[in-house]
Amino acid sequence: MPVCRICKDEFEKEDMVAVRYGGRKVKVCEDCAERMAEEDAVAEESESVVQNMMGFKGRR
Ligand SMILES: [Zn+2]
Repeated sequence: MPVCRICKDEFEKEDMVAVRYGGRKVKVCEDCAERMAEEDAVAEESESVVQNMMGFKGRR
């Protein structure tokens, strides 16, 4: 079973989303993806916010 790279919990494949993290793609759960997107938006305000949104398809 895939493991979220952030919270280290196991999730169903369907609940994982690919996000860009430190320049590489990792699979994380939807909760972490959402949190990462928010943190990235704060950290990088003008940069690559749109890209993060695009890697982010599994919204509830
Ligand atoms: Zn997670």
